[in-house]
Amino acid sequence: MNQTKQKLIARERIAILLTQAEKELSKRPWLSRRHVIMARKLATRATVRIPSIWKICRTCSTLLIPGRTARVRANATKRMMTMTCKNCGAVRRFPY
Ligand SMILES: [Zn+2]
Repeated sequence: MNQTKQKLIARERIAILLTQAEKELSKRPWLSRRHVIMARKLATRATVRIPSIWKICRTCSTLLIPGRTARVRANATKRMMTMTCKNCGAVRRFPY
């Protein structure tokens, strides 16, 4: 199997895992985190990036969803967005 195909499969599986993680977030957060951890491992092994539509806490692997698992603040002057993980309190900043 060639690398391109492997990456394609990995991306597909990551998408499935993260969709599942989102569904389990409110009912079974521990299961959700396990899906995210698996998706991250897959991404590392296949050297693919996790699509930017999904934000993941680097510290505790919680799927970050604004208003649910993350607090989002925007700084208009600096054009920076701050995302705080409600599970572990880790802060991530990125430009917008
Ligand atoms: Zn966290």
